[in-house]
Amino acid sequence: MNNSKIWLSSPHMGGTEQKYVGEAFAENWVAPLGPNVDGFEADLQNFTGVPHAAALSSGTAALHLALILLGVDQGDEVICQSFTFSASANPILYCRATPVFIDSEYDTWNMDPVLLEEAILDRLAKRKTIKAIIVVHLYGMPAKMSEIINIANKYGIPLIEDAAEGLGSRYYNKPLGSFGKFGILSFNGNKIITTSGGGALLSDDQSEIQKARFLATQARDSAPHYQHSQVGYNYRMSNICAGIGRGQMEVLDERIIQRRANHEFYLDNLKEMSWIEFLKEPEGFYSNRWLSCILINRDNGVDRESIRLALEKVNIESRPLWKPMHKQPIFSSYPFYGNGTSENLFKNGLCLPSGSNLKLDDLKRVVNEIKQAYNGQCLNNQ
Ligand SMILES: *Cc1c(COP(=O)(O)O)cnc(C)c1O
Repeated sequence: MNNSKIWLSSPHMGGTEQKYVGEAFAENWVAPLGPNVDGFEADLQNFTGVPHAAALSSGTAALHLALILLGVDQGDEVICQSFTFSASANPILYCRATPVFIDSEYDTWNMDPVLLEEAILDRLAKRKTIKAIIVVHLYGMPAKMSEIINIANKYGIPLIEDAAEGLGSRYYNKPLGSFGKFGILSFNGNKIITTSGGGALLSDDQSEIQKARFLATQARDSAPHYQHSQVGYNYRMSNICAGIGRGQMEVLDERIIQRRANHEFYLDNLKEMSWIEFLKEPEGFYSNRWLSCILINRDNGVDRESIRLALEKVNIESRPLWKPMHKQPIFSSYPFYGNGTSENLFKNGLCLPSGSNLKLDDLKRVVNEIKQAYNGQCLNNQ
């Protein structure tokens, strides 16, 4: 029996990455900045339709710079989706601001617009200053953007789109990352495309992206010597990583098709299992299906953990959905506006192997092992 490891989401090179990296070596552009960084930024601008992009060392760095550019400081509040990866919220603490967490709705698993408005009204009644809203497109599924944008505009609060998981997804045909005052992307090793590690900040506002580039290169004033009048950061992307990114951009469309096909395969082959539920795309929503996720409705004593552990035993990596931020020890003391959705998703949700490099045999193995795990558990429990 084939027992080779099946990963959740592993890097998948396209083939031309080494050409761009080789050019950097040939020209000795082994440095932060360089032609690959410029080329990669142009590729991102073309793909997302956002006119200005800064390639950075990580998605987390991009979020941090977005908050700094919005003037987030000690005592301010920043509203953030609770159901996300901690990198969405950590930069709020870097700025010594207070995160205010919002629960999700069941249609997209992202920020609930109703709770968002309730929270804004309550924070304003408490005389708090809300400097930004961070909405996340989790697992590639777009959030309910028109509702969220309307609320952000109504109260005049800038929107940051954490599209780290959503590159290639669309909302009514408009690419994610292009809706907010700022959009952020990640090219970490497990994302839909990777630069081994990296991120980007997107904006329609050229002067903001120029400021981001300035802050990301140690805030160096123009002078022949090194002169600084602001705190700077070392957040730029290296020309080597950007070379990988340029190669990856050539295969991004293919990667989206492959990830979506994984999701279709799981749906087709598991849909007769009444205890498994999938997240559908609402009309007008197009997900890159970065990760294929299922909800396991406890049935015959079978729950999420029993399936995950059974897969682990046969060398298949799967992972619970993100544990919401308001339940994390580091964030549990901050304000939270909730309805139980994200806790329920965390309790019952599982991310299945979703890499664009999975073979048909890998996908079949995952499906068979899930069915076997269920049948085995049911027998045990009789
Ligand atoms: C990966 C990720 C980030 C952070 O990206 P890094 O490049 O790893 O810093 C931020 N938000 C979400 C939702 C992510 O999944």
